Amino acid sequence: MPPTRTTFLGRPKTVKTIEDLQVAGKRVFVRADLNVPLSGGIITDDGRIRAVAPTIAKLVQAGARVVVASHLGRPKGEPDPQYSLAPVAVRLGEILGVPVSFATDTVGESAKATVAALADGEVTLLENLRFNAGETAKDDAERGAFADELAGLADVYVGDGFGAVHRKHASVYDLPARLPHAVGDLIATEVGVLKRLTDEVARPYVVVLGGSKVSDKVGVIENLLGKADRILIGGGMMYTFIAAQGHGVGASLLQEDQIPVVQDYLKRGAEQGVEFVIPVDTAVSGSFPDVKGGAPVEDFAVVDADAIPDGALGLDIGPRTAQLFAEKIADAKTVFWNGPMGVFEHPAFAEGTRVVAQGLIDSDAFTVVGGGDSAAAVRTLGFDETKFGHISTGGGASLEYLEGKTLPGLAALEG
Ligand code: ADP
Ligand code: MG
Repeated sequence: MPPTRTTFLGRPKTVKTIEDLQVAGKRVFVRADLNVPLSGGIITDDGRIRAVAPTIAKLVQAGARVVVASHLGRPKGEPDPQYSLAPVAVRLGEILGVPVSFATDTVGESAKATVAALADGEVTLLENLRFNAGETAKDDAERGAFADELAGLADVYVGDGFGAVHRKHASVYDLPARLPHAVGDLIATEVGVLKRLTDEVARPYVVVLGGSKVSDKVGVIENLLGKADRILIGGGMMYTFIAAQGHGVGASLLQEDQIPVVQDYLKRGAEQGVEFVIPVDTAVSGSFPDVKGGAPVEDFAVVDADAIPDGALGLDIGPRTAQLFAEKIADAKTVFWNGPMGVFEHPAFAEGTRVVAQGLIDSDAFTVVGGGDSAAAVRTLGFDETKFGHISTGGGASLEYLEGKTLPGLAALEG
């Protein structure tokens, strides 16, 4: 089969798929994103494992010797047991229905032995890539040296860790340059969906933004100003918008240095006919809720967005806002949602996220949910994921794609 022509990153480029590679009997390195949420060693949401499993199953079917690698969490470049991928190997084996061996290091004796022991159609998972400083090093030579070690474990590379493609990391960016490489099916699907949000979007196009990584996400608004019809602001980000309107936000999450930026967005939105929908009320408490134990919130209150008391911590959009958001989503033809509307991990502050999720389902729109926590939220709140158009495994990656940035992990798979 000839290499497929795609328009990866919007440019005509040659990108190989798995079908274009010879994988039978070969050691195939699969860079996956198995960065799942863990609580006390238990996987609380296995969506990212299930998302890449078909790629691995396809390689197993084709008789490859599959070497899977991923990061998990943010260890500091050395082994840290709380970030071990060992529980993920077990779960991956259950999902695939074949045993998955586990290497207790990434490029050391254990990795070399488990890879050498692979027969055709067998799978092994390496320990957390980020237990090695070279994986995330800023220094090209240090990253390259680690990529050389990884390359020694494989004959072929398949990039399928969509959640990490915005990172210039050794396993994402440097390793594909060292091996014949192809794009995995998950990344191909994810990019296909994002292209529908950039090139050929059906209108009204509504974007819902929330979550806690405010400064990471403010940048996407710049690019959305020319694209979206409506931008709904919830989650931790809403307080910077409320402050930008001149109101106090109590003890809520506030990115003070972003206030002028947000004011500029509001002004340009008004000029360009992009409607910003900013919360009119918010659920608050005097302290951060007990997410682990789920203890009831004694001082739960709903207040108007322009009357947040001193010391109050805003933890969810309020019910009037949730209703307003549902109305603003109802007639959409396309919805992109990134970031929970509140601290959904506690039932007292999950309502806003629940109403928005239901709003997406009730609309006739093509709906895309992006972001690790957003995806986990819709599943842990009990929504049927098949009711959404697409649940992306990458939050930062999809946002950077929508921002129009070049993603190192996609660029590395081209050509
Ligand atoms: P995603 O992973 O979907 O991109 P983020 O990582 O940006 O989303 O944010 C998810 C987190 O944001 C959740 O853990 C949630 O508890 C938190 N969050 C939402 N609203 C607030 C808020 N008002 N204050 C503090 N944290 C919030
Ligand atoms: Mg997150």
